[in-house]
Amino acid sequence: MSDRKPFVGGNWKMNTNRTTGSDLTRGVTDGLIQVDGVDVAVFPPFPYLLTVRAILRDRGSSVRLGAQDVYFQQDGAYTGEVSVAMLKDCGTQAVLVGHSERRHVLGEKDELVNKKLRAALESGLEAVLCVGETLDERTAGHQDIVTARQVRTGLADIPASMTERLVIAYEPVWAIGTGKTATPQDAQDAHAQIRTLIGRTYGKDVAARVRIIYGGSLKPDSAQALFAQPDVDGGLVGGASLNAADFVSICKAAAESVRGNS
Ligand code: PEP
Repeated sequence: MSDRKPFVGGNWKMNTNRTTGSDLTRGVTDGLIQVDGVDVAVFPPFPYLLTVRAILRDRGSSVRLGAQDVYFQQDGAYTGEVSVAMLKDCGTQAVLVGHSERRHVLGEKDELVNKKLRAALESGLEAVLCVGETLDERTAGHQDIVTARQVRTGLADIPASMTERLVIAYEPVWAIGTGKTATPQDAQDAHAQIRTLIGRTYGKDVAARVRIIYGGSLKPDSAQALFAQPDVDGGLVGGASLNAADFVSICKAAAESVRGNS
């Protein structure tokens, strides 16, 4: 087993309000007090970043503050967009890039995802590049081609030195929010393929270091088997991250997966 520290992110999507987001943050920090060996981040909606940050700081929590998206330009006439500098100004440490809902609901293309990823990593933010095939692409047997294209294009012009702050999330679109989870073997196969691609691009040291996490209807009862796979280094959690107990339980499963495998 590798010595990669697991990473678990809670993507709240367009959910919560100031009260429920605050309660959720308190529940997560309380639940994780005795838990170490896993990097945890929460990704609230933009308007609640400062509220969540204040709670994390007050509690001296190691949970990282993440944003769900970012724009690549520094400033200017980009109505509705948010820059890396703005995120950092709000204490954000991590950001999701290329989430499937951005790609498939909002129409983001690989090239835009790459610009966002470059801007985030250049600024010193930790960035989670999300990739994964749709059901049609999987049914056609194209999952490997699609995932490889998203990884290759997403990482274009990103030097090895910046990959220290890179996490890749393999999130098959057919599994996101559907209640269908990839089997541990399917996830392992996809993660191994992505790691091989990283190795071809950046060499084996980078490939051994980059964390590749799974996302798609991850729940407390499916986490252990998925995290037991050698190339699954944690998870990106949507629905279950809105329940503090479920999210904490997934974080614990990630922490225990390292102990169990070492
Ligand atoms: C996600 O939003 O990245 C996700 C994996 O959602 P869910 O866990 O709800 O499938």
